Amino acid sequence: MTLTTSAAFTEPAPSALLLLGRGVDLASERGVECVGDLPAPSDPDLVERARAARAALGDRAFVLGHHYQRDEVIAFADVTGDSFKLAREAAARPDAEFVIFCGVHFMAESADILTSNSQQVVLPDLAAGCSMADMAAIDQVEDAWDVLVDAGVAEDTVPVTYMNSTAAIKAFTGRHGGTVCTSSNAHVALRWAFDKVGGLDGTGKVLFMPDQHLGRNTAVLQLGLSLDDCVVFDPRKPNGGLTAQQLKDARMILWRGHCSVHGRFSARNVTDIRAAVPDVTVLVHPECKHEVVTAADMVGSTEYIIKALDAAEPGTSWAVGTELNLVRRLANAHPDKQVHYLDSTVCFCSTMNRIDLPHLVWAMESLAAGRVPNRIVVDADDAHWARVALDQMLALPGY
Ligand code: SF4
Repeated sequence: MTLTTSAAFTEPAPSALLLLGRGVDLASERGVECVGDLPAPSDPDLVERARAARAALGDRAFVLGHHYQRDEVIAFADVTGDSFKLAREAAARPDAEFVIFCGVHFMAESADILTSNSQQVVLPDLAAGCSMADMAAIDQVEDAWDVLVDAGVAEDTVPVTYMNSTAAIKAFTGRHGGTVCTSSNAHVALRWAFDKVGGLDGTGKVLFMPDQHLGRNTAVLQLGLSLDDCVVFDPRKPNGGLTAQQLKDARMILWRGHCSVHGRFSARNVTDIRAAVPDVTVLVHPECKHEVVTAADMVGSTEYIIKALDAAEPGTSWAVGTELNLVRRLANAHPDKQVHYLDSTVCFCSTMNRIDLPHLVWAMESLAAGRVPNRIVVDADDAHWARVALDQMLALPGY
């Protein structure tokens, strides 16, 4: 096992996140203070307390662990996966009264949408948001749609939102005849969307939210559109920073959002690792910038990355551009292969890392004591329309 950065084993400083998390709108993806008394991280009985609370809950609870979670949390997960897989796993267990989602806020929302009304979804730390999801607020998206209406292109535009968006954005997408996509099926979702407005050879458009990189990479590398077909809508600028003519000429209207983890990788990282490791295969996530993806050898979703490493020959060398907790676990799982981390600095998902063992213990002990902490509930109207968009994704070819 090889990890190229000694900093890889340094935990992120908690203080900056605590400051970020103070007293912010509960309905947003941003942080809030923990509403209970957390066990101390130094509590020597923490693991034992987790075991006892998990045992006390038994089949009443189902614990989901996203691939980017810390090992200490993954150790108590009943299933691991990406966000959509986890939401479906929860929905497939209607007897579990409590779904404890060790992931981030939008994932818990999706689980609430897909599970039955009798199931309660709990996020152990409400400060576990997603910076990408935060980059598309529903008011901004509704204003953007008005800009498209004024430019005369809204009727010719289908919204497609990535799973990594709030329930309100998914609901907006459902209301406007669009679909949700994952990083695995974005190309299928885009083809479906373009087919609704005259096909790839026509003039119809897709409004893709919130990750500009996934949208651009998919449109250019998998659908054959050009970079010139893509424009970036910046919600902080009047009219998104675009003229009506630019909107008319565009095929992909990309929301100005990105992942703060995958956005850190650079083409220079790829050059450096190739110079340092002969015959290395560079494997990156499609949330990386276009120049990183085009410099890499392989690109794919988290599940694709895991399968690629599973299938790799012993003795081969890999540089992986995705979240560090996952890369570390892959390196540990494949001691017969060299698994390098693509960046030279730490690249955890800091909000995902808010869910640590103290928060998980607190959540499980609260449930075992009869209190439901940090329940995530999507309002009925948003849940209905978000479900429409999610069902549309499930109806795409390949599902
Ligand atoms: S890795 Fe990126 S997209 Fe995923 S939860 Fe973290 S910030 Fe959001």
